[in-house]
Amino acid sequence: MSVYFDNASTTKPCEEAVKAMLRAVTENFGNPSSLHRVGLNAQLAVDEARKIIADSIGADGGEIYFTSGATESNNLAFRGAVSAYGRRKHRIVISAVEHHSVDETATALEKQGLEVIRISPRADGNFYAEDFINACNEDTIIISMMYVNNETGYIMPVGETFRAVKKIFPEIITHCDGVQGYMKLSVNVKMLSADMISLSGHKVHAVKGVGVLFVKKGVRVIPQITGGNQEKGLRSGTESVPLISAFSKAVEKYSPTIEKRYEKMLESRKYLISRLSEIDGISVNSPENSSPYIVNISAVGKRSEIMLHFLENKEVYISSGSACSKGKKSGVLEKFGIKPKNADSAIRISMTAETEQGEIDIFIEALREGMEKIRS
Ligand code: PMP
Repeated sequence: MSVYFDNASTTKPCEEAVKAMLRAVTENFGNPSSLHRVGLNAQLAVDEARKIIADSIGADGGEIYFTSGATESNNLAFRGAVSAYGRRKHRIVISAVEHHSVDETATALEKQGLEVIRISPRADGNFYAEDFINACNEDTIIISMMYVNNETGYIMPVGETFRAVKKIFPEIITHCDGVQGYMKLSVNVKMLSADMISLSGHKVHAVKGVGVLFVKKGVRVIPQITGGNQEKGLRSGTESVPLISAFSKAVEKYSPTIEKRYEKMLESRKYLISRLSEIDGISVNSPENSSPYIVNISAVGKRSEIMLHFLENKEVYISSGSACSKGKKSGVLEKFGIKPKNADSAIRISMTAETEQGEIDIFIEALREGMEKIRS
């Protein structure tokens, strides 16, 4: 039996998503912009999907914009806000542990002359709202914090920070990369006090190539892709009805069970960690209060890539860190205070609520064997 513990990289599409996608490909194939009935049916499917996703985060349908994924959503949020406000203001504040799609976008804007302040966790490994507030000033366009870190599962104090920032600087745009929290923890626009939120389909058992940017009514964002004025002009390009339908069906399926699955995940993580403690040389990098969907550990002395391929030979699939970086070190673990030696041997285990104890047992046995057989 193979064990797939790399759900933070991508998830297996659920049956409902695949069915909806196929139906849109084979039957509801119209262009939503066409004025005839075939087009209208496609438009209705997109409208329905927009409503489902809006409801899932407490937003209005008119505030949901479909994109090709969270990378595009993050790019649109930053570049769009900077295009709108960048003449008057120059500062961007982000956490130092953001996904590349935020961090590299900030770097690109930095090269264009903007000032980027990156906030690191303190020595205790935690982020504090105060540090973000102190970095903001009247010259700040946007502040961005991810909800859940994709490497460690650390849950950021997003709501608390954004609320405090808004109190002092109501004009600063608050953006949250919600990808690793969506459908796992409750993501709600009011709770997060977010003006913009990025989401991705393939992390929630839908399919790759579709994402969302929530933009609160009244927030100005200049389009970065121009053309036929789809998505109210914010993101031109014919809507991918199959991918959008798949996304909404997965959200419809998983929305009602967020809490139940979270409870189950806490149990799975507890079991995983207790079994890990049986193996010498394993240390857990994820903090206790992190999202139970991601557990980062170090197999001390064994290089991540070597362990990854050892486990792969046993049909156990994990990640050495952030899969998007293809094994390239992101430096995020070090920022969280993990020693470089441990970061070099880090493994990310990301389960789902469907993970069974038997799968954890298979992983543990494979890891134990790896610890014995791989030379340090
Ligand atoms: N943000 C985070 C936190 C992620 O984990 C990912 C996916 N690795 C992305 C953004 C990018 O999402 P997508 O693959 O939809 O572009």
